[in-house]
Amino acid sequence: MRIVFIGPPGAGKGTQAVLLAERLGVTHLSTGEVLRAARTSGDPLGRQAAEYLDDGRLVPDELVVKLVADRLAAEDCEKGYLFDGFPRTLPQAQELDRLLGERGERIELALEFVISFEELTARLGKRGRSDDGEDTVRRRLEVYASHTRPLAEYYNQRGVLRRIQAVGGVDDVTRRVWRAVQHARSGDS
Ligand code: AMP
Repeated sequence: MRIVFIGPPGAGKGTQAVLLAERLGVTHLSTGEVLRAARTSGDPLGRQAAEYLDDGRLVPDELVVKLVADRLAAEDCEKGYLFDGFPRTLPQAQELDRLLGERGERIELALEFVISFEELTARLGKRGRSDDGEDTVRRRLEVYASHTRPLAEYYNQRGVLRRIQAVGGVDDVTRRVWRAVQHARSGDS
């Protein structure tokens, strides 16, 4: 199955992505994780991405799309994949569709994690990642609202969007995620 997760930072996407990818036996692809690892190892991609990561701004589309295109070419993506944190802009979504079209594939489920601003700021304050400082968090939430949230409508028009409430315990959210997957698989939209 081919899935994208859409949701603001702090919505629990990463946790759910790991669980769902394992359950479905598909590859989990977090562009944020790849970029952070590239920065730590000091490779050219990491050096180009570092300033954006630290400021909570989006890394330029070309860099991220290249990263994803390379990653999709790997053998472990043949069994399906779950994108976590990608696409984050309309051009990224369009480019992803183009890449998938070349492979004769398409996104079957776009899952939007819905959560209030108040809940998010409370959660992010507790997380302690290096880009979780107050100003950076605010910028990342703004970037989400202006650039990424509109992608839900993009996928809605393609008939693959499902929304879940991302509040409550991890197990509650996991159950909602699974229900959405089952609906998508049965074609019941
Ligand atoms: P995440 O781990 O998904 O919260 O991503 C952390 C940071 O990595 C973001 O704040 C961006 O700076 C960068 N990043 C991750 N994915 C993307 C993407 N698809 N497009 C642009 N920047 C990204």
